[in-house]
Amino acid sequence: MSSGFSFKVGKQLPNRLGRTGQISTPHGVINTPAFIPVGTKATLKSVLPESLTELGAQAVLANAYHLYLQPGSDLVDQAGGLGKFMNWSGPTFTDSGGFQVLSLGVGFKKVIAMDENTFESDEVIADDKERLAHVDDDGVTFKSHLDGSLHRFTPEVSMQVQHQLGADIIFGFDECTTLHNTRSYQEKALERTRLWAIRCLQEHERLTIERKDKPYQALFGVLQGAQYEDLRRKAAKDLSQMNVAGRSFDGFGIGGALDKKSLGDILKWVNEELPADKPRHFLGIGEPDDLFIGVENGADTFDCVAPSRQARTSSVFTKDGRVNISNAPHRREFFPIEQDCNCYTCKNYTRAYLCHLFRAKEMVAATLATIHNQHFIVGLVAKMRLAIENGTFFEFKDQFMLRYYGNQ
Ligand SMILES: [Zn+2]
Repeated sequence: MSSGFSFKVGKQLPNRLGRTGQISTPHGVINTPAFIPVGTKATLKSVLPESLTELGAQAVLANAYHLYLQPGSDLVDQAGGLGKFMNWSGPTFTDSGGFQVLSLGVGFKKVIAMDENTFESDEVIADDKERLAHVDDDGVTFKSHLDGSLHRFTPEVSMQVQHQLGADIIFGFDECTTLHNTRSYQEKALERTRLWAIRCLQEHERLTIERKDKPYQALFGVLQGAQYEDLRRKAAKDLSQMNVAGRSFDGFGIGGALDKKSLGDILKWVNEELPADKPRHFLGIGEPDDLFIGVENGADTFDCVAPSRQARTSSVFTKDGRVNISNAPHRREFFPIEQDCNCYTCKNYTRAYLCHLFRAKEMVAATLATIHNQHFIVGLVAKMRLAIENGTFFEFKDQFMLRYYGNQ
């Protein structure tokens, strides 16, 4: 089946699951491992699409849930798809909406990262408040965080929304559990996600035929199973063997309840089961130490809102750890955030200027800090790729980790 989508494995990390590779999509290639900046609502907050290219981003990940609610996926379809709508000509991803609709119903904020600027999680998870999402075997009913209106996502709806959004890589609709759920609930949710994955493949196949004039969209199946080795391995086996009318998943997303110390184990379990010739996306990961663990254990792409969110709160990355650039010591530092950083912000502006902008609450503060943070994280994963190519990954990791975390 000619699709315009393919994945080629490059160099393998010795005695580990990590590797370099190249994902080809109808809108260009992604050299992996790669960090994919998140443009939740079809924009990387405060940053122009032109800057995205300059800071080294190879692709953008937007959110199906947000774009379905506003402006509406049919409108994005009419505009020519996500990339055209936001004037980004490179590859795009959308997530399935599963995480967002379900995180309205349970205490996600306590266990894994989510966009706290978008959701007032503390309110929605309070015991005496009505939950905003309800899951059953057929799908999820949820209330819009914008106006309280009632909506329903099923695997079919998620596929329809993501086909309208038109991203190159889309994700299966899954039930995202938390570490608070019981083992028996995790088993039940995993089976539900397996059945939903079959329905996603069916609907994806139907839509791919119906919309054959549109660029091919690759569907990644999402693996759940929380912290349980047997469940994670089962999910990986089930989804990699799944085949509906000749169609199987083009890649895989690793998501769900993850506790920081088990990231490496979970990745190892699933990547030992998954076929090596398909790409693996690690959902919602963006801290430097987690990225090293992710790459080492065989994840090819990553996304996370954290670098942008931290930038907007004046927290910027340096090789010596994160720095709050609005603090008093930076007021008279007439040099860049990092002397040897090639980003637009560091080439043109001083710490003193950024400090002033944040204190004066000027909007461009967010823009300049976001450009630097995204450049730092995108660049860090690009350096990991280079280090695998050069056979220096572990030296690079040790050197980076010592300096970054040694000074915290
Ligand atoms: Zn910089």
